[in-house]
Amino acid sequence: MNHLTKETKLTILYILVAFTFSVLMRMIWVYQFADYEAFKYAGQFMINTNDGYYWAEGARDLLSGVTQENDGSPITTAASQLTAFFTLILPFPFETIILYMPVFLSSLVVVPIILIAKDLKNLDMGLIAALLASIAWSYYNRTMIGYYDTDMLNIVLPMFLLWSIIWAIDTKKDIFLLIVALDILVYRWWYPQSYALEFSFFGLILFYTMIWDRKNPYNYKLLAIMLFAMISVDGFIRFPLVLVAFYMFRQDKFQKYIYHILVVSIVLFLATGGFNPIWNRLKLYVFTDVISASKDGLNLHFYSVMQTVREAGHIPFETFANRISGHTVTFILSVLGYMYLVYRHKIMLLALPLVGLGFLASVGGLRFTIYAVPILALGVAFLITELTGYITDKKSVKLFAYIVLTLAVLYPNIKHIESYKVPTVFNADEVKILDILKSKVDREDYVVSWWDYGYPIRYHSDVKTLIDGGKHGGSVNFPVSFMLTQSSDEAAKMARLDVEFTERAFKIYENNIELNESQKVKVFTNIEEMTEEYGLSDTNDFLLSLQTDIELPQKTRDVYFYLPYRMINIYPTVVKFSNLDLMTGEMKAAPFYFVSRNFKESKERIDLGSGIALNKLEQTLTIGKKKVPIRRVVQTYYDKNNQLQKHVQLADFSASLSVIYMSAYRSFLVVDESTYNSLYVQLMILEEYDKSLFEKVVSNPHAKVYKLKI
Ligand code: MN
Repeated sequence: MNHLTKETKLTILYILVAFTFSVLMRMIWVYQFADYEAFKYAGQFMINTNDGYYWAEGARDLLSGVTQENDGSPITTAASQLTAFFTLILPFPFETIILYMPVFLSSLVVVPIILIAKDLKNLDMGLIAALLASIAWSYYNRTMIGYYDTDMLNIVLPMFLLWSIIWAIDTKKDIFLLIVALDILVYRWWYPQSYALEFSFFGLILFYTMIWDRKNPYNYKLLAIMLFAMISVDGFIRFPLVLVAFYMFRQDKFQKYIYHILVVSIVLFLATGGFNPIWNRLKLYVFTDVISASKDGLNLHFYSVMQTVREAGHIPFETFANRISGHTVTFILSVLGYMYLVYRHKIMLLALPLVGLGFLASVGGLRFTIYAVPILALGVAFLITELTGYITDKKSVKLFAYIVLTLAVLYPNIKHIESYKVPTVFNADEVKILDILKSKVDREDYVVSWWDYGYPIRYHSDVKTLIDGGKHGGSVNFPVSFMLTQSSDEAAKMARLDVEFTERAFKIYENNIELNESQKVKVFTNIEEMTEEYGLSDTNDFLLSLQTDIELPQKTRDVYFYLPYRMINIYPTVVKFSNLDLMTGEMKAAPFYFVSRNFKESKERIDLGSGIALNKLEQTLTIGKKKVPIRRVVQTYYDKNNQLQKHVQLADFSASLSVIYMSAYRSFLVVDESTYNSLYVQLMILEEYDKSLFEKVVSNPHAKVYKLKI
């Protein structure tokens, strides 16, 4: 290492220190749950983000070489491919790889931060910023251990891009032309939506060139090679284009053609629809409609999922500031620090797109905050080093001040990590069910469940699903919501219909690919297709007909229902998607549904909370000030063999509400008659079902799977 300069050695040391710190902080969660078996599967912790099971499914299929048409497995995505690659070259089991990938990949963010600081001749600032950025509130939340999602590189890659652009402009070295272009290629491969950010960087460099450095041919080379890396064609075409451009830029004989090459890149960029993604992306974030009508066919109105997604919406300033810097004070100092940094080093203006995207969070939702984290960390770190330098020249005093101030900005973030005890997506018992199910099903079979459970089901049981974390619009959610919340008799028919119509739509899409525009067969939503198939023009008539003995389509595969106990918490949301008149878009009155885990029992009554109480002696419910009769009182429990037992006591046949006490979960459920008769309550809570329609396949108190027999 003797040939390295002192500065280079210090750079490497700082990177190692910050990287180790980032990794160790992410191990706190492991330490906290070390003995908690419910979070483990196959001897390893499970992941804690739903979407992770999507990438895991793709990686699993890449490794096994088994892929099917239309099963939704993302084998062409970067996240799945990188995971499969790591599994092949590293001596760890798959579950360990996906658990730790976010830990190690997201910690790489310290590298570009420190390298940028090196360019500004302020390495200490780099170290302080790297320590803060690697564990700042929102960055930690989205890159903690087990948060196996694209976020693990979504900040690392644009930060590397920013670093290479800064170094390109500052050094004007040829090699950075190539590094910038490669950064764009890798970033786009990892995250196809990276487009907007790439384009903002491009715009800023163009602006800089026009105002300050118009005569320098290097800038035009940089702009041209960036465009070659950004045009809307496959990466396998962009990569050689970039190499050719780089080769030509380095040859003396091509220097007079630089502007021609730039024109070619602009033409290619525009011709391939370079601007389109920008418009589409902007459109994507304008979603306010609750009910969205489909344009063709019966003009049905579906319930929009956006309404139930929490992260879209306005957030208070304090939350916003905490997410970016860990504390309001740190945040304000960070913004001031960044402004001062830009004042002293204009090159840092190039970081504006990242800050801007982070600030979009205040309107676009919390997930954007992470983009501002590293830049604002550099802001506060700059302030710390500048202020300290202003006050003292003494090395020991400086060091002391650095340590105290750095600890002060880190402290709220470390506190947050300590308290952020995120559970795994599934618990061990739920996964056991899916594992057993895997041995009983065929890859082409369907498992019906709410979309939250789609990816984990597909990963663990290797089956198909109707809806999942990426496919959950109002029209596809409707039939599944209908199945889970209507009577099991209607649900059974709908399940067979929806599965067969889904497969039929895949076939039509495939055939359409070979046809020209005029021959293509239009495909409407499944519900519209069904209504039409049965010769009806009103969807309500079709739904009513499910109560009769209608003829069902040819069965092509088996269908299963996966019913987890945890769905009891989201039942009111599940209902919403089918509790409306599709013809008019009018919502129906919400069913009565109340779960109580915090109840107080006294001699005469059980207080269930929210002003609802069960009067034990007279078998009535008090709701607010009103007393209402009870239809039935049910008590369930599991016997020694884990079999469900129940006592049903009929109280007042004319009443609507039933009370179910589930002793295994120490929970009360108060529901109206339609909810009581729903498939979810009947099959999951009461195990009451028609043996000619359903067969219980595997169950424990956490989840139950039934096979459809029609
Ligand atoms: Mn599959």
